Amino acid sequence: MSKAGFMPSVFRALRAESGQIKAYIFELPMRVKFRGITMREGVLLQGPAGWAEFSPFWDYRTAESARWLMGGLDSVLRGYPLSAQQRREIPINATVPAVPAPQAAEIAQALGAHTAKVKVAEPGQTIQDDLSRLAAVRAALGAKANIRIDVNGKWDLRTACDNLPKYDRAARGLEYAEQPCADVADLARLRKRIPSVQIAADESLRRAENPLLVRDLAAADVVVVKNQPLLGVRAALELVTELDLPAVVSSALESSVGLVSGLYLAAALPDLRYACGLGTAKLFHIDVSSQALLARAGVLPVRKVDPDFLLDAYHRDGYCMAELKNGESRRQEVSAPRAETFFKWEKRLHETWEFCQAQGWLHEKLLVQLIRPQYLREI
Ligand SMILES: [Mg+2]
Repeated sequence: MSKAGFMPSVFRALRAESGQIKAYIFELPMRVKFRGITMREGVLLQGPAGWAEFSPFWDYRTAESARWLMGGLDSVLRGYPLSAQQRREIPINATVPAVPAPQAAEIAQALGAHTAKVKVAEPGQTIQDDLSRLAAVRAALGAKANIRIDVNGKWDLRTACDNLPKYDRAARGLEYAEQPCADVADLARLRKRIPSVQIAADESLRRAENPLLVRDLAAADVVVVKNQPLLGVRAALELVTELDLPAVVSSALESSVGLVSGLYLAAALPDLRYACGLGTAKLFHIDVSSQALLARAGVLPVRKVDPDFLLDAYHRDGYCMAELKNGESRRQEVSAPRAETFFKWEKRLHETWEFCQAQGWLHEKLLVQLIRPQYLREI
């Protein structure tokens, strides 16, 4: 892996792991559009050490998706570094999509969290939409709550310099602004020009050639780490150690089975001073498990989750997507994936696996067996 300055040990470790892994494709309908999607799709992996998830979004090409797969494989083959666990509960933030202000207030309160991350700069929306959303969230959560924004790199430096003070005022104080600009050097400049607002780096870590630039350019006060794109729990811990900055663990909108890796990562961080973005199971109509990771009083317990709902669905005939109507689901149980989803992910898993093999990252005797839902078994 040619990643200047940062060489996670996962590549060396997984080359030594042989055995068989089972893979189950899933799709989960969402309550609201998030990151442009209304259906979350991916693959659950089962190996000797348990379950994990492989679910890169579709804008990730094979080379980038391969890192997500390595993260999942590390969890199912090697488990989590349990000796590093510092805590049994993780404080979580509410994640507020770019919805109208009244709905934003409702979502911010739903988890009982004291921190809300508000999505802003959504294409097609105005600054006023964002400011109203921030004001509504502050009014709903009260003066003591922490409010952060996530810009997903959509502002140039000048826009960020203009907007940050306005957003800071509308929120009556921002905890931090996550990835206001796409370019890591711009983050460093912004941090100097607007010192009153803390800056967090997200995409600058997980989509960068060299994530250590965040440290070397002094581009952030906080780093956001995501388990899958950062090659799994151990590699993410290694990166945080190298960066030597306070970290926030965030989900990649995983199912409750995938969220477990994020919980174990958060539990192992030496310094956890911010609430984590792992309360996203709430965004699904129905999850892969009867033990979905839904927060109570703003915290999630650190525990494992079995995908019993999904496994049941694999043994039933057919799927019940027909019950989806006008974006509203009346289903009580999760379905097996539709045939088109299944074949799309079968191809993707195969291509990503081949890529990892071709790079020499995986043991040649490590095998993956894709499980077909009952209704596809005779095809
Ligand atoms: Mg982000």
